[in-house]
Parts: sequence; C-alpha cells; structure tokens
Amino acid sequence: MKGFTLFIVFFFLLFWGACGNVSQEGKIAHVEPRPIVIQPIGGFPDKQAQVLLKMLKEVNPNVSVAQPIPMYNKAYFEPLHRYRADSLLHYLYRKSYRRKDAIVLGLTYKDISTTTHGYYDYGVMGLARSPGNVCIISTHRLSKRKKYYYNQMFKVAIHELAHTEGLGHCDLSNTCYMKDWKYKSPTLEEDEFCITCKTYLQKKGWRLK
Ligand SMILES: [Zn+2]
Ligand SMILES: [Zn+2]
Repeated sequence: MKGFTLFIVFFFLLFWGACGNVSQEGKIAHVEPRPIVIQPIGGFPDKQAQVLLKMLKEVNPNVSVAQPIPMYNKAYFEPLHRYRADSLLHYLYRKSYRRKDAIVLGLTYKDISTTTHGYYDYGVMGLARSPGNVCIISTHRLSKRKKYYYNQMFKVAIHELAHTEGLGHCDLSNTCYMKDWKYKSPTLEEDEFCITCKTYLQKKGWRLK
C-alpha cells in the first residue's frame, strides 16, 4: 500500500512537472522582439523600403521606416567605387544613439564591401554586428529580375537581422536562411529557417511559423 501511495505521489509530481514546462514554454512564446527600424540611406527608394517593411511585419509587428539619412561619404573606398560596410555600421550605430533597444537595418543601393577571404575590399550584400543592434544590406548585387529582387532582398535582410540576434551561419540545412552564401546571391532554395535556427529566434520573440 505504501508503495502504491508513493507511486501516486510520484505520478502527481511527474504530471505537475510537465504542466510546469508547458507554462514555461508559454512564457517563451510571449517574449517581445526588439523593434526593427529600417533606415534608408542616401536616396534609397522609399517604395522599396515600404515593400520590405510589409514583409518584415510578418516576423516582427514592431517594425518601422525611419526618415532617410544622407550617405556617409567617409565610408567611400575610391579604388573600387564601393562603400565600406563596417564604416556604415559605425555610422548607423552613431545615428541610432536614441534607439539602443532597437535593431537598425540600413538600406543602400550602393555597392558595399568588407575585409574578408584574404581581400581587403570584398563586395558583399550585407553585414551585421553579431550580436549587436546594427546591420546593413545593399541591393546592388541583387537580381535585376523583378521576380527575384524582393525575394532576395527579404532573405538578405532576415539573414542579417538574425546575425544581430547573435545567430551564426548554419550548415544544418540547405534551405535555411542562415546558410553561408559565401557572398553569392541567395537562391530560391533557401525558404525558411531550419528548426534549430527557428527555435533560437522564437526565443528572441520572432514570429516564425
Ligand atoms: Zn551571414
Ligand atoms: Zn539553420
């Protein structure tokens, strides 16, 4: 009989523990994501910023487009006619001093570059501080075909935003947005975050199905 009572107590504790986990998971699902501020730079077309705004709202309802700011001419690297992405991140960081709680996503149509792969000046589509609160994307290297243009723009944006949350590159799945594109354009193949990356971002409050 004593054994049976212990069994009942054990069973109750197990059940109670399981309920505890459910409510904990519930709490994780209600984390508010950091606001995203889309920052057009140097005459970036407002229409394109608005399209991206609409797409990012699906992931984070707290996203807005800031007043445009001029290009940071000190970031210009004349020999290759590009703008240094890390200088632009510093520029965005200084410009966003009132919004330290938010992630600032800079948009430029100019070609941007960074030092990588043994090259001082290597053209890239985006760069982020990881973890951090600034990232930038350039539309210069995106497909010129309208069909792919916004699809690629969204993928590069979401990839860089995920870097700001501290997420690194992912080799778990060929279809994950966090795949290392090796500085080539994203393809139609990447169409979601893999379950590992998704879980990480959901804990940061991202609304991912
Ligand atoms: Zn990356
Ligand atoms: Zn992944």
